Amino acid sequence: MEKISKLLIGTNNKGKYKEIKDLLPKYIKTHSTTEFKLKSPREDGRTFEENSIIKSKYFSKKTKLTCLADDSGLEIDILDKNPGIYSARWGGKKSDFKKAIIKVYRELTKRDKNWKQKKIKARFICALSICYLDKKIITVLGKVEGYISTIPKGKNGFGYDPIFVPKNKIKTFGEMSSLQKYKIDHRYNAFRKIKKFL
Ligand code: IMP
Repeated sequence: MEKISKLLIGTNNKGKYKEIKDLLPKYIKTHSTTEFKLKSPREDGRTFEENSIIKSKYFSKKTKLTCLADDSGLEIDILDKNPGIYSARWGGKKSDFKKAIIKVYRELTKRDKNWKQKKIKARFICALSICYLDKKIITVLGKVEGYISTIPKGKNGFGYDPIFVPKNKIKTFGEMSSLQKYKIDHRYNAFRKIKKFL
């Protein structure tokens, strides 16, 4: 397979854009969706993989560039794996992450009043896909297992980072430096699998 020299990072989320750009080999020239003033397509897939493919296909078609797109989210076991593919939508129209975190706590309390005394199992999932110029698509999945913190902690990162403690760690993703987080998170784990396709 020919090496990719130009790549569009198919996300309008600044946090994700920065992380994906940092993971890519430096010889690849990256482009952002904002350069092309593109809005995100409607994500009506049923899985992370399907939504990731919807994005990479759409952005590649609009820009005529090879596109790497991600779809990610937080699964909480006792909430039947919600917010899952609805992770961004739990923040409302303005993607207000504080609102999304309040909703997580509200839903946990609804499910179990004593949830704070328990270890609430959760994981971040990331599907990455590449849509090539010949319209071929590949997709991979990465995960990181962990628990929900009883209070939000830390100001780093984005989204649900302040309430997620990865397994065998004490700090939330929000308390970790981006370098610490990037070495263990779901996007990195997906990236390790997709590297050979770049
Ligand atoms: P997407 O843009 O539809 O993939 O939305 C994914 C949503 O999941 C984001 O808006 C965040 O709320 C959440 N999310 C995904 N990855 C992370 C992460 O690394 N940290 C915190 N939240 C994340």
